[in-house]
Amino acid sequence: MLCTECLTLNGHHPNCPNAEGAPEPTFTIWRVGTPVDVKLRNRAEMRTAAQKLSFCAETVLRDGEADIVISGGVVIGGCYIDDEGLLDYE
Ligand SMILES: [Zn+2]
Repeated sequence: MLCTECLTLNGHHPNCPNAEGAPEPTFTIWRVGTPVDVKLRNRAEMRTAAQKLSFCAETVLRDGEADIVISGGVVIGGCYIDDEGLLDYE
């Protein structure tokens, strides 16, 4: 099995989110004109939100953040990985 997150065969990179016991990152979505940020508890929720709001989930996971851009290149919000997502909060 090739891991789709860390691209390691039959195992995981130590920092791989799929590795045993790895904490799920949490995410925050902010939007222009919306005072309350949206909190997402895991990657699955973030990927769902990415489809709804048209930002790139892969960019968030790779770069730590991505913008929500509408036509004309106007940024209307974004999504970023919370720092506290690195803590295990189970
Ligand atoms: Zn992995």
